Order: sequence, then structure tokens, then C-alpha cells
Amino acid sequence: MEVTGKIVRLRLAETFVISRETQDVADVVHVTISYKGSSGRGEAAPIERYEETAASALAFVEQHGQLVGDDPFALEEIGARLAEIPGEQAAKAALDAALHDLQGKLLGAPVWRLLGLPRVGPPTSWTVWLGDPDDMARRAERAAARFRRLKLKLGGGDGLDVERVRAVRDVTDRPLMVDVNEWWSVDEALQAIPELASLGVEYVEQPLRAGDPGGAVLRERSPLPVYVDEDCHTLADVAACAEIAHGVNVKLAKSGGIREAIRIAHAARALDLGVMLGCMIESGLGIAAGCCVAPLCDHVDLDGNLLIAEDPCPGVELVDGVQVPGEGAGLGVG
Ligand SMILES: [Mg+2]
Repeated sequence: MEVTGKIVRLRLAETFVISRETQDVADVVHVTISYKGSSGRGEAAPIERYEETAASALAFVEQHGQLVGDDPFALEEIGARLAEIPGEQAAKAALDAALHDLQGKLLGAPVWRLLGLPRVGPPTSWTVWLGDPDDMARRAERAAARFRRLKLKLGGGDGLDVERVRAVRDVTDRPLMVDVNEWWSVDEALQAIPELASLGVEYVEQPLRAGDPGGAVLRERSPLPVYVDEDCHTLADVAACAEIAHGVNVKLAKSGGIREAIRIAHAARALDLGVMLGCMIESGLGIAAGCCVAPLCDHVDLDGNLLIAEDPCPGVELVDGVQVPGEGAGLGVG
């Protein structure tokens, strides 16, 4: 098989702010795998937090893409070969997605059919990025008309996080969840979470730094379920997450692709953990791959393609708050 990659710049419709950074553009890598006159495509959304960039993802694809070998159906063996090289999970996810897309095109079937899963999962949340309480409330109110769930980014470091949630709760009855992106200490979390519970928040994502030794205490004492994101990357992390959380946030850009994400989802179920699906800022190509895993999840946060000004890879459609993948073969992206 022939593997090529290129960097694609996505422009955001509005500046995106979380506790670590602000962002106006997102660079992703598009990978194409060609085989016997057909081709499959996948997207890498590199995560800066893990020292990945579009350049490093592209370099991985160019240097190691040949590890896909000659058989597009040999996903287990290909995955094992790629896993021997540490890091660059987003690049691996792009290769995995391109292989799934290629399989679907060779067989004339959508990937969700190949996986034996329903076409759609739960409704996606809309991410209300970090801002002043009033500003977040205004944006939440606008989004509540179009989305059935809202995810609020917290971690302002200014003592106003609970106020942010209160301001949003004043303008909408939509289910709310919050993502602290590692910003709180255990004490701050134990103080804030009961207040969030009284405001009807459903769960709290990654309140503590990844690896914080207080995780088990918080799990025990938190009145709301704690989901971990930065603490959970691949299948190997899931058992330890059961000690510090009630659920895990699966992302293809962390797991290295659809196949590992499905393994994580099943392992999490076996450990009685909730399963959430997240994404990065991605085009429809990346989100289409995420849609394949959505039916296995309790909560879905797949709004990455809706945050960009113009989607270079349309195909996924938001229908009544649910991200619906295309009907076409493979990932269904044009
Ligand atoms: Mg998160």
C-alpha cells in the first residue's frame, strides 16, 4: 500500500479558549492510503499537551507509514507494528482511520456496518469554551437552541468556576457537564463539586492533574461522577482509571485509532466505568472516524468539525443534536 500525508490548516469560527491555551487555527494531517485503485483517508489531530504537532505527525506518517504493509484488512498486525514505536498517537489514528475507510470502500459498505454497530450514538454536547461567567452564559444560551447537551470548559484559575456554571444554569435547562482540564487541586475539587451537583451538573471531567495522587480520594468522596481524559490514553491505562474515576473519555487522537478505542470502551464496561467519547478540533474526516465509536459510548462530545469556519471534508451531519455519519462506503466523507 502507498501512504501519503499532508498538513491541512483548519480555521476556527471563533477563538477557542481552555485553561491551557487559546487557539484560532488548528493544523491537522490528512493521510491517504492507496491500494489496487482504491484509497482511504484519515485525519490526525495532534495534541500539543503530549508534545505532538502537525509536523511531528506528518514526519511519523512519512517515516513509518510503510508499516501498514500490503494487507489493508490486517488491522491487528498493523496495529502491533505501529504500537512498537512510542508516541504520535494522532498519526497512528490517521493511519487506522484511513485503513477503515479503505476497507469500507473495497467492500462497498460504511465503516459502522463493518464494525457491526448502529449508525449513530447519543447526541453530542457543544463545548462552551472558557470565558467570563456572563460571556459563557451568552454563548451557552445561543448553543442551547441547537444542541441537546452543553460541556463547559472550566479551570479559569480565578475562583469563578462555580459562578460560570451558575451563570449558564440561569439561562438554560440543558444537561451540563464540565471539563476542568487538570486545573483543580483535590481540595478545590472537593469544594466545587458539591456546588456543581446542586446546579445539576452531570459529571466532572479531569478535575485534577493527570497522575495526581489524590485521584482515589476524590473518586471516593466526589458527589458527582469523575471522568478522566488526560489520565486515559490507551487500553493499558483503563484498569488504573477505575481506581481514580467513574468513567473515561476516549479520543481517537489519544488511543491511536478506532480499533483501540473500541477495546478501551469494552474494558471500561468490564470495570463498571462510564464511557465518554471526545474529540479535538477536527474536520469532518476526523469526526467521521469518531462517529464509528459513538454508539458504544454513554456520552458523546464530537463537536470539533462544528467549531471550524469551513469544513474541508463535509460528510457528517448534525441532525437534532446527533452527529450522523454519511451513508457512503468507508467513512462516508466526500
Ligand atoms: Mg477533556
